[in-house]
Formats: sequence, C-alpha cells, structure tokens
Amino acid sequence: MIRSAIVVGDGVVALNVALALQRRGTEVTIVAPDAPWRGASWGNAGHIAVEQVEPLASRATVKTVPKRLFSRGGALALPIRAIGAWLPFTMRLLRASAPARFARGKAALSAMLETAIPAWQRVLADAGVPELLRVDGHFVVWETPQSAARGRAAWLAADTGTATVREASDAELARLRTLTTAPIAGAVRFEGSGQITDTGALGAALIDRFVAAGGARVHDRARSVLERDGRARVTLDEGAPIDADVVVVAAGAASAPLVAPLGLRAPLIAERGYHIEGDPGDWPADQPPVVFEDRSMIVTRFAGRLRAASIVEFARVDTPADPRKWARLRAHVAALGLPLREPVAPWMGARPTLPDYLPAIGRRGAVAYAFGHQHLGLTLSATSGEALAALLHEEAPAFDLSPFDLGRFG
Ligand SMILES: Cc1cc2nc3c(=O)[nH]c(=O)nc-3n(C[C@H](O)[C@H](O)[C@H](O)COP(=O)(O)OP(=O)(O)OC[C@H]3O[C@@H](n4cnc5c(N)ncnc54)[C@H](O)[C@@H]3O)c2cc1C
Repeated sequence: MIRSAIVVGDGVVALNVALALQRRGTEVTIVAPDAPWRGASWGNAGHIAVEQVEPLASRATVKTVPKRLFSRGGALALPIRAIGAWLPFTMRLLRASAPARFARGKAALSAMLETAIPAWQRVLADAGVPELLRVDGHFVVWETPQSAARGRAAWLAADTGTATVREASDAELARLRTLTTAPIAGAVRFEGSGQITDTGALGAALIDRFVAAGGARVHDRARSVLERDGRARVTLDEGAPIDADVVVVAAGAASAPLVAPLGLRAPLIAERGYHIEGDPGDWPADQPPVVFEDRSMIVTRFAGRLRAASIVEFARVDTPADPRKWARLRAHVAALGLPLREPVAPWMGARPTLPDYLPAIGRRGAVAYAFGHQHLGLTLSATSGEALAALLHEEAPAFDLSPFDLGRFG
C-alpha cells in the first residue's frame, strides 16, 4: 500500500497520476511552481488523437524530413543553435525507426491508445465535467486535387486504431468549404477520435478535484529526487525537503535531470510547438478539429477561442521562442481566410519527446516516472495516470507497461 506520494509537476500527466493515486487512497502532494497553467498541457491542439497508433520514429516519417523543413515552407525546424540537442536525439530516432523496433512501438502505443478515451471518460465523470470531452471525430482536408488524392489514399489505407476514417460526405465537404476562402479539394472524416473542449477549464477542473479529495500543493520547484532508506525525498529550490513513500516525476520536458542521478537515462528533447489563437468569428462552436494537412496545421474551436497550432522545433527547453514561427502561422491563417480575429495571442511550448516516440512510465524503488508523452500527452494522460497508479499499488495495469520502462535506453 502506498500511503503517501509526491508528484513533481502539475501538467495534465502529473494531475492524472495524482488523481489516480488519490482514487486508490494515497495521500498526494503536488510540487510545482506557482505559475499560470500555460505549459504544453494548456497550449496544445485539444485533439484526442487515438488514431495516431504509429510512433513518429518510423522510416516513413524520416523519408519526409527534407520536404518538411521549415526553411522549405514546412513545419519541421532544426535550429542550428540547438544542434547539440537535436543531433544526438536524431541519431537515436534513426535507430528507433528500424522496422522491428517500430513494429514493437506501434503495438505498445496501440494498446495504450485503445484505453485512452474510456480513461478520460472516467476521470472527467469523477471530476464532474464529462462535457469537457467530445468524441465527435475530426477532419483532415487538402487544398489541391493532387495532395487530396495522395493524402486520402494514405489515410484510407492506414491503421487508425479504434478510430475509423472515411471520405467526407458532400454535406460535410460543403460545410468545410464555408470555413475558408481558400479552395478545399478533398477531406476525410475520422470517427472515434475527439477533442477536449477547453484546455484551461480542464486544468482548473482537475486541480479542483485534486484539492477537493484532500490533495496538498507545494508551490516550489523540485531540485532533486532521491531514495533514502526505501522512501522518497524531494529537495526544493526554496522550501525544506519533503518525504513520502514514493515520488512520481511528471515534469514534462524538464524531467530528465530529475531522474538522471538515479541512473535512469531519459534522452528527452523539447519538441516545441507554436500556436496563435483569437476570437473565433463565425467558426461553428460544434465544428470538430480540422487538420490542414498541406500546411501541417490543426485548427481547433475551443470555448470562445479559435486556435491554429503547428511547428515541430527540436530545441532545448529554455531556448527563446522564434517569432518567425508565429509569422508562418499567421500567413497560413491569412492564406486560408480563417475567421481568427484580433487580438491574436501567440504561444510556444514543449512536447516532451523521447527518440522512440513512446512515453516513459515505470518505477525504480521509491521513484516512479510518467513523462515523454510527445504529441499525444493530452490523449494519453488519463490512461497513463491510471496505469502508473495501478503499477504502484501492485494491481494489473490496463495495458502492458514494460515497453515504456526507461530501462530501454540503457
Ligand atoms: C503545439 C502543441 C500541440 C499539441 N497538440 C496535442 C493534441 O492535440 N493532442 C495531444 O494529445 N497532445 C498534444 N500535444 C502534446 C501535449 O500537449 C503534451 O504531450 C502534454 O501536454 C505533456 O504534458 P506533461 O504534463 O507531461 O507536461 P507539461 O504540460 O509541460 O507540464 C509539465 C509541468 O512540470 C512542471 N515542472 C517542470 N519542472 C519542474 C520542477 N523541477 N519541479 C516541479 N515542477 C516542474 C512545469 O511547471 C509544468 O507545469 C501538443 C503539444 C504542443 C506543443
């Protein structure tokens, strides 16, 4: 029985771990700086992407790198000033893309994604906010007949896990065409995927539930995590150290240095994404997310806001944002004629990514970890929380956790 736990971090992964431990009777303390909830868990595209069963560490993705480069109009940025971060990462990514490793990763990710929506439904029902999850699919659209033919053929042949994909109906296509002034040449409709309708409200609801269940919050930054006499200790930047039966490191892209002294190698990179958001204009409130695949951009209607998100920039967590990325997003929005109205607010945040594009979930003695959820952290956080809490309480998790153990990095 784990009587007490410290969870380091307050993003969507940390909160889900904390809530799942509380549901099993553990007293939980969250350690995180007293900062507004504005990390990746807030700034993401809100898409519950259960269709993305193929890890991005794949030969197919690697082949598309040259044409996806930011310098050539694409969304992939490899800034030269961060070469020390992304070069070793990409060498590992190439190794993880070998067909046998990709196949194992896909099986592991598929099993996890299968459990994602039911886990969110349980968490949100328990928090009294089931309406924050809408399981109404999403669209992928193309702007030229050529890209539509290629993209449609690829998606219709792809494994999309528990989601299904079909050609968009005439009525759906007609409605999509009212959203942009640019031509839409074709579209597919996914069913079984979903969206979180308001990421800010999600954070507030999860924190409220945590506090209502007796959770404690320490507004400080964890400096180190240690194991002493079978118990866990967290030292803080400002306050006195705190102890518990177990500590869970769930600090997103900042997690690696916290587990390194325990001999756990986590070759994480900050895979930074950018968004702009503003008044939604006449974009319908019930419109499922739309992926403009030619531009690698997803547009999501949240409560009162319209958000356009894109860019995969491999960098360090603390590298300053690059304003050219927001300019590119603004150019896409203008070219499509989207009704995203001023004042438009820019944001940048880091996806925590490991080279095999699988999360790290596991335990070493009194120290456990849940991070590295890459492009899928919103989708996977509820099921990650439940699975890690089950592991810590010596119950069987809903999916095999062994592929997610950090031991895979030596
Ligand atoms: C542009 C963009 C779009 C995305 N779209 C989607 C999407 O549509 N669907 C999807 O599933 N995923 C999406 N993602 C990915 C998803 O947002 C992330 O995987 C997820 O938010 C990671 O959550 P996290 O809790 O691990 O990390 P974070 O949200 O980064 O939270 C980490 C927390 O740890 C805290 N912390 C850091 N260091 C310390 C320390 N030393 N001590 C204490 N606390 C610390 C930070 O303050 C922070 O609150 C997107 C990401 C981006 C950037």
